[in-house]
Amino acid sequence: MADVTADGGGADVLRGQGCAVILLGPPGAGKGTQAQRIAQRYLLPHLSTGDMFRDHIQRGTDLGRKAKPLMERGELVPDAIVLGMVEDRISQPDCERGFVFDGFPRTIQQADDLEGICKRHKLGFTIVLYLVVNPELLVRRLTGRRICKASGHIYNVYERPPKREGFCDLDGSELIHRADDSEAVIGERLSAYDRQTQPLVEYYKLRGLLSSVDAMAEADTVTKSIVGILDGAKAF
Ligand code: AMP
Repeated sequence: MADVTADGGGADVLRGQGCAVILLGPPGAGKGTQAQRIAQRYLLPHLSTGDMFRDHIQRGTDLGRKAKPLMERGELVPDAIVLGMVEDRISQPDCERGFVFDGFPRTIQQADDLEGICKRHKLGFTIVLYLVVNPELLVRRLTGRRICKASGHIYNVYERPPKREGFCDLDGSELIHRADDSEAVIGERLSAYDRQTQPLVEYYKLRGLLSSVDAMAEADTVTKSIVGILDGAKAF
């Protein structure tokens, strides 16, 4: 099989029609890792609402000040705030031909609003990749996650450790451990997922947009499954 993460390897497949790719699944399912790879292969912007909030917090904006305490407790940020931020981001020219969402939508309200957004952007289709992982693995994935401060590249000290502990293989930058990836907050994040986000599985299944992906396997295998689905999506 060809290199599944090759830059632009599948660009024509998705960008020709305009596509919203949504990664759905609990915290720790691998949404960030897979979203980075899909974005690279299909030349679509990777839109992580969690990253957008962390950027606001770092810049000390009003929005960041509102989101920070909620994120620290593992709760969701209110829909109105998330939706305003997403609308702003996807009005940028790089989003004209589609995007890869990671961590959005997370509530039925967000999903309903996204439908309107996709219509306004005249996107040809929406595809939801549901990453299925057994719950025991999630805590291990979250506590083991480390993120490159500079590039955002994601490692896992158990499954995909960096060559040199604490530093990125790609650019040597420091790796960080997110405060909300601590066991104290993970429980609340997982229960917020069960209460508010899991219903989206049924929501998208009913609309015929959901493709389930076995995300228990190692990252490369999961990427191959996803590429198979997205390349095949040409058909609908
Ligand atoms: P993530 O990086 O996707 O794990 O998100 C980190 C945190 O940001 C979440 O625990 C929420 O507090 C907040 N967040 C990110 N995306 C959303 C969203 N779509 N709706 C509400 N809160 C969000």
